Amino acid sequence: MRLTALSGFGSKGPACFLLDTGGRRLLLDLGRGPDGDALPDLAGVGRVDGILISHGHVDHTGGLHLAGGPGDPPVFAPEPAIALARDGGLAAAHPLDRAGAALGLRIDLGPAGHAPGACWMRIGGPEGLVYTGDLSQESSLYRATLPPPARALVFDASYGDADEPLPAQVAGLLALAAAGPLLLPAPAGGRGLEMALTFRAAGHEVAICPAHRMVAEAMVARPGWLAPGGAAALADLLSGARPLAPDGPVRGVMIAAGPNAERGVAGALAPRLLAEGTGRVVFTGHLAEGTPAPGWVAGGGALFRRWNVHPTLTGMRAILDAVSPDTAMPAFCAPAAQRALAALIPNLTAAREMTW
Ligand SMILES: [Zn+2]
Repeated sequence: MRLTALSGFGSKGPACFLLDTGGRRLLLDLGRGPDGDALPDLAGVGRVDGILISHGHVDHTGGLHLAGGPGDPPVFAPEPAIALARDGGLAAAHPLDRAGAALGLRIDLGPAGHAPGACWMRIGGPEGLVYTGDLSQESSLYRATLPPPARALVFDASYGDADEPLPAQVAGLLALAAAGPLLLPAPAGGRGLEMALTFRAAGHEVAICPAHRMVAEAMVARPGWLAPGGAAALADLLSGARPLAPDGPVRGVMIAAGPNAERGVAGALAPRLLAEGTGRVVFTGHLAEGTPAPGWVAGGGALFRRWNVHPTLTGMRAILDAVSPDTAMPAFCAPAAQRALAALIPNLTAAREMTW
């Protein structure tokens, strides 16, 4: 089998990997961004038999309009990602759990804890490949399991060798929230709801935007994707959280899409808070180029405090222990972070291709 990183190796940039099983050729994710509109280069890829999507985020799905190049193969994605899709290509995908039968391959799937419906996948059984997509074992809302053994692994290394646990990050944010109103721009289909539940549990008044409300309603109906008690917690959030609007009152903890204040309620509310000085704006995820977030943080107007949705070094070690691969590829991080990880973890490939 051979795995080639078309994109997503050596940078945070869009996820797209080509897997050749010997009998089938697959693309694993087909993303865009997250910095600007970066797209994978599919020239020379040839025909593929299927596209497997790990989760609904745009840096894993936003290149689906390019699927005509490799012959318009069937696209498979986790059911919650299809249900929540804002993009036509993803909305028309087939459920990922049907991909194995459709393609004549053994494909094992499990929840990856990172976002609604996020999956890890093992293709080709114990002799095959595990692809984690984006994975976090720290989510209190989204269920996660560790993938099973395989000979090769592509894993989420977005944070390089960072190892700060989520509870320490939460403690810092709770201290900020105690000092005054906070706006936390977040992806509705990501960490936003988990943040809302955490602040509510700590006794803060929480407001969520309509995009978050929509995702919460969808996930209440899909309790199998949530950690124990997750559906009840979301139902409680839906009945208890204040609706958040761009011109509404500034108080408590306000959680709004989009994650870089590039759109949505956060896109309207963040500039208002910065202009009025009525509350703090705290970004918690990747500060994407081409959006307002990096400039505001660099200029001191807004803060950055990470909220883990990718594995820490400790989390990566757990994945590697579980999969026990002969060879492993760290994805979604820059060369310096790859080198730092290679000094700590054996059997990492420094090349963008693995053959086994
Ligand atoms: Zn993601």
